[in-house]
Amino acid sequence: MSRPIYAEIDLNALKHNLARIRECAAGRDVWAVVKANAYGHGLENAVKAFADADGLATIDLCDAERARNAGWTRRILLLEGFFDASDIEPLQRLKVETIIHSPWQIEILRRAKLEDVRCHIKVNSGMNRLGFLPVEVNTVYDQLTAIKGVRVMGVVTHFANAEPSYSAQKPASVEKQLSRMGRLAHSATAACMANSAGILFHPEVGGCAVRGGIALYGVSPDSHISSEELGIVPAMSLKAKIIAIQEIAAGEAVGYGSRWIAKRPSRIAVVACGYADGYPRSMPDGAPVWVEGQIAPLAGAVSMDMLEIDVTDIPKAALGSEVELWGKNLSVNKVAAACGTIGYELLCALARRVPVRVNESEADRTSEHADG
Ligand SMILES: *Cc1c(COP(=O)(O)O)cnc(C)c1O
Repeated sequence: MSRPIYAEIDLNALKHNLARIRECAAGRDVWAVVKANAYGHGLENAVKAFADADGLATIDLCDAERARNAGWTRRILLLEGFFDASDIEPLQRLKVETIIHSPWQIEILRRAKLEDVRCHIKVNSGMNRLGFLPVEVNTVYDQLTAIKGVRVMGVVTHFANAEPSYSAQKPASVEKQLSRMGRLAHSATAACMANSAGILFHPEVGGCAVRGGIALYGVSPDSHISSEELGIVPAMSLKAKIIAIQEIAAGEAVGYGSRWIAKRPSRIAVVACGYADGYPRSMPDGAPVWVEGQIAPLAGAVSMDMLEIDVTDIPKAALGSEVELWGKNLSVNKVAAACGTIGYELLCALARRVPVRVNESEADRTSEHADG
């Protein structure tokens, strides 16, 4: 009997979300972003579920190798490009396209023997992370096309504030970034700009392609807007079971450091999920945990392999009850907000030791369609 914790990955939800993002992309090509082990969902699962995407985008050549081994024959894009001259061989062998964001990468290309390297010029339009300034793009284009075996596919930029909760007054609003892009943004045949938030909230962005990440996994890029409102379905549910119940008197404390102290006689359930599973230790008392159709508050510091919840008001919660740490019933964004982070971080931090169950049942498909 293995430990009663697992991450359920719903392939039909992934497929549904891709269809939804494709609809919002309105004719633009869709790159499915699968970095960080497909945001914790498993790269091989993503390869299967995103078969209809135009390409996969990631940051690691190892991912490209894994995707090819899993049968992916369409395009693959390296979002930060290559990191070293030794990457050029696998890049060409695996037919991976690369971002070019810095002069040192062009230098590596100049010195290599190239057959067919497809490049996308990264433009820094105001986020100040990666890329060339818009005024440098023409020169970079000329430098790249002068190298034998190099093809320039287009330009790429990234938005710092495409989520509606970010105020339009920010120094790098979508509007300001688009304006800095100038005519580059209007190259409908060669610009790839929008991430999930850009796709969902800024149809004016345009371009020829989009890069969908978090929304493909059914999680809203803006924690103030729900998945339901966006028509996407959470694909990962982290579930564990109650393995012990403690009946304690008022004044008794729970867990390391005795952080949580009972104000009344309390029923405390011990859940088989801890920080070594990817549930943050920084989670405060009161953080939401779903059990038996209700929300129970976290009680006490999260341990390495267990956490405790107050089920005094949830009599149905008992030994063996299934608990959802995040997923379809409890949004990962809500859980993340309780400890001051975002859903992205929790999904990516899912620990390798957590068993993954892949769900693709006919029943799911039917209920999903019934929900529209
Ligand atoms: C991660 C990433 C994305 C996807 O972002 P989401 O917010 O998850 O949609 C798109 N583009 C680049 C360059 C990225 O690094």
